[in-house]
Amino acid sequence: MTRVYNDPEDFKDEMTAGFLAAYGRYVERVPGASGVMRRGGAREGKVSLITGGGSGHYPAFCGIVGAGLADGAVMGDIFTSPSTQQAYLVAKALDGGAGILFSYGNYAGDVLNFDAAQDRLRDEGIDCRTVLVTDDVASADEDEAHKRRGIAGDLCVFKVAGAAADRGESLDDVERIAQKANDVTRTLGVAFAGCTFPGQSEPLFSVDEGKMELGLGIHGEPGVRTVDAMSAKDLASLLLEPLLEERPEGADGRAAVLLNGLGATKYEELFLLYGNLMPLLEDAGIQVVMPETGELVTSLDMAGCSLTLCWLDDELEELWSAPADTPAFRRGETSALPSFREKGAAAVETGAEAEAVEASPESREAAETVRTALHAMLDAVNEQEDELGRLDAVAGDGDHGVGMTRGFRAATQAADDADGGAGTVLRRAGLAFGDKAGGTSGMLWGSLLEEFGKALGDTEKPTALDVVEATDRAIELVKQLGKASVGDKTMLDAMVPFADELRQQVDDGAGLADAWSTAAETADDAAEGTAELEPKIGRARPLAERSVGTPDPGATSMALCVGAVAQVLRGEST
Ligand code: ADP
Ligand code: MG
Repeated sequence: MTRVYNDPEDFKDEMTAGFLAAYGRYVERVPGASGVMRRGGAREGKVSLITGGGSGHYPAFCGIVGAGLADGAVMGDIFTSPSTQQAYLVAKALDGGAGILFSYGNYAGDVLNFDAAQDRLRDEGIDCRTVLVTDDVASADEDEAHKRRGIAGDLCVFKVAGAAADRGESLDDVERIAQKANDVTRTLGVAFAGCTFPGQSEPLFSVDEGKMELGLGIHGEPGVRTVDAMSAKDLASLLLEPLLEERPEGADGRAAVLLNGLGATKYEELFLLYGNLMPLLEDAGIQVVMPETGELVTSLDMAGCSLTLCWLDDELEELWSAPADTPAFRRGETSALPSFREKGAAAVETGAEAEAVEASPESREAAETVRTALHAMLDAVNEQEDELGRLDAVAGDGDHGVGMTRGFRAATQAADDADGGAGTVLRRAGLAFGDKAGGTSGMLWGSLLEEFGKALGDTEKPTALDVVEATDRAIELVKQLGKASVGDKTMLDAMVPFADELRQQVDDGAGLADAWSTAAETADDAAEGTAELEPKIGRARPLAERSVGTPDPGATSMALCVGAVAQVLRGEST
């Protein structure tokens, strides 16, 4: 259980402030962004390695920012990917002219947001590449290794990439090296007990007495298999054997070994386990290079551990062994590490300033309805926050309820503050939603609200047909960004039937309020119907079977929201 906090909502921000106060000799805040960078910021002519993801994984990701390792970390809320805007701002602040390498664990929300930031940076002429960490052998078969999640093996990839960047390698080479390291890094983890969000009394999942969850995720996703508890000796084999089965072709036996604690497992227990691993590693002919035992990538207060092997060649061994000096990871003689020019970090243009628009009185009136609708959606998701979290915890990470509430809270605030027509109000709401909610659904919801706003514009009074067309445009964008299809068990499985029905009703001559209400009922049924589906995409995919029988959280919240808007359009909600 997480015991130290004031308001759970402020957990990440207060944690970051304290971290910066404690480690200001290594890191500083990226101005205007939720992220940290090495003291002094970007270094001219050096590739910048930027990592990041949700918080709750310390020392990942802010704790490994420093000389010889990462240049910056983008910090999302607990277990929630950072927004596109935050990733963009951190990268922009760290542009030293030699390019940016983004490297982070392979999670849908992170990929969506970092990729969108990457597109923006490239449009501005900044060379930007991405290497996803996919070390978790439990999360997909070897022939689909690119679908695997990133867990503690993150550190191996970041360490070699950071060392390569610091010794002045080009972006092509830093990318190549990071990719090579990921291709030879494998991890398997086990959980003894789940983890608990600040402010919550129940863990995201629990492990039965006398059992362990094998193949856990680091966001409270339960393991892929429940096994009986066992001795340290047996546990050592259980973790090691599947990794040995995937020994890469050409590996000569040298390997970096990480035994990682997940947050609530004692170092003494880890050392004991490491002692039990040693003879097994020897028997397998492995020459261990600079092993690490301790907390490297955690999952709040989860009890458990993971074992990582990163198979080394000469190039990787040299980089793995190179000095590093960061708040949480230090190694070797660091005085030789390149020093950083002392410069005050410059504020980055956010690009969020919308162009001034001349809104018509009709559109301003529609904007009032939009504001009311956003408030109604906030109330609806807020009321169902726990239930949405529960649905998401079955096979995902349990953050869907808090994420949606956070998103709509920011969206309503931005909408209330915005001056303009329906289009501007929706666009501002979308930007704020995406920025504050984070995660997959935060990015997609933010984008769809923005797109809806662009379609409605600020001059016309939106007709029923305009709304139909705006809905279709928003759906197209969600499909394009998330690359999901109907049937993959996502929000699209509620949205698409909703939009089809809406168009049908309007074509048949229904007014907007009636058409929307009928379509909202369709969305409700469709969302319930997702219970039968297996997720094909997103964080729930590795545990697809567990998800059968439970409706998709994103489809459920979508139905909830269009239902709340139906009430507003019918004039039943103010
Ligand atoms: P995260 O998965 O990052 O934790 P949330 O829990 O807030 O984000 O949202 C999960 C929901 O997002 C899923 O239930 C699903 O409806 C939706 N989702 C996930 N991936 C996609 C995608 N690629 N396209 C559309 N919707 C998606
Ligand atoms: Mg989630």
